[in-house]
Amino acid sequence: MCGLVGVVGTDDSAYEAYVGLLNLQHRGQDGAGILTVDTKRNQFALQKGSGLVENVFSERSFRALRGPAAIGHTRYATIGRRDPNLLQPFLDSHSGIAIGHNGNIVNCYHLREDLLRSYQNITFASESDSEVILQLLSTFLKGESPNDNETLFAAIGYAMSELVGSYAVVGLLKNCSIFGFRDPNGVRPLFLGKKEENVYAFASETVTLDYLGYSEIEEVAPGEAVIIPLGGKPERKMLFQKSYSPCMFEWVYFARVESCMGDTSVYQARFQLGLILAEEIKKRGIEADVVLPIPETSRISAGAMAEALDLPCRELLIKNRYVQRTFLLDDQAARQLAIKRKLFPISQEIAGKRCLVVDDSIVRGNTAMQIVKLIKQAGAKDVTLVSTCPPIASPCYYGIDFPSNEELVAYNRSEEQIAKELGADRVVYQSLDGLKRALGQASLCTGCLTKEYPTDVSHGSQFEEQRNIDRGKSLSESL
Ligand code: SF4
Repeated sequence: MCGLVGVVGTDDSAYEAYVGLLNLQHRGQDGAGILTVDTKRNQFALQKGSGLVENVFSERSFRALRGPAAIGHTRYATIGRRDPNLLQPFLDSHSGIAIGHNGNIVNCYHLREDLLRSYQNITFASESDSEVILQLLSTFLKGESPNDNETLFAAIGYAMSELVGSYAVVGLLKNCSIFGFRDPNGVRPLFLGKKEENVYAFASETVTLDYLGYSEIEEVAPGEAVIIPLGGKPERKMLFQKSYSPCMFEWVYFARVESCMGDTSVYQARFQLGLILAEEIKKRGIEADVVLPIPETSRISAGAMAEALDLPCRELLIKNRYVQRTFLLDDQAARQLAIKRKLFPISQEIAGKRCLVVDDSIVRGNTAMQIVKLIKQAGAKDVTLVSTCPPIASPCYYGIDFPSNEELVAYNRSEEQIAKELGADRVVYQSLDGLKRALGQASLCTGCLTKEYPTDVSHGSQFEEQRNIDRGKSLSESL
């Protein structure tokens, strides 16, 4: 999962991209990059580096990152976390095309082999699937810059016909046009906004465009490509459309609560998730004294649930805000250590209480297990662990780090077995139907819940194997 931004039509393009990335920091903390075209020197200017956005760029950066168009990327690694070669945007200097990509290409290893076999002069600087997208565009264009929008649309259409997986892409051409496109299932989000005459921007989330003062915000449709020339208006073309299947986890966990996805605000979706779970708690006759949100994502749902159950909602797990989100740490030991450092219970308020502990989701179970332990050690009389997301029991091939089945706590286990594994008195999961009702979407990707993926995932095992090899590599590099 990554964050994307693209801006055209303002001399502040790089700075806007920077502020945009700050607003997308939650989508990836491994590294960030911004690329512009310096029109005076007729060349690209690129800066990227590891770490948080505000540590990668300084005031000095914006003296070099000049020009009326920019694209930016903030990275969350599912593979190759410590490899700086994987930071984006990627630039192909032959065709003068640069892209930033959010998502995962399931058949990337297969496509890479094909490209290497078919074109002698191709080299890949990294293992990134995003480079495969860039090479598909570049080889279709025979390494030359596209002269008109039709040629670029054709190249994007060709890439879409080859790519299997999830992708939202923003791109920049040497003539300062920016472009964006989204996979035919719309698994990953991409939005377009207008600020003033001929000033436009793309972003992964509406909150970014809102913050930067863009209005007339619209989704780039699944399978659609949009090209915006410098000084011109967007030209939009539907290239490939399949069933709309946005990732349910955007609403549940990933997106900022101020954002809107599809027709439903993330806030409203999380509120509804809480209300629907309250119905379930009542139905099962579970009694409690207090609702505890696990900070931060579950707060809205916990508040709604408490309201519906007529219970107090109390912040009794205090977060050390300087510790990274555990979900984004890429190995087991690092995660466990981070959880311990991350949350602290207020024992005086917890002791003797029956607690409904609300988390957005339970993936491997490490976080949940540690939290249940903390709450029990704080003297809770009874702990019900409530997940706003249904059981995650299958991997994600589309950019979220849900690992192989065996690592997922819900895989092949009943609710009772999961509760036992996690040390809770019971667990209550959101139902699939409840999730769909809360998110208000006619269709969704629910592959990790139901094993029904919106694309072919027959190359998924190759992808998973590579991910595991890579994980092993990055762990040994860090030791
Ligand atoms: S498999 Fe799950 S996490 Fe992955 S895109 Fe689909 S819904 Fe999202």
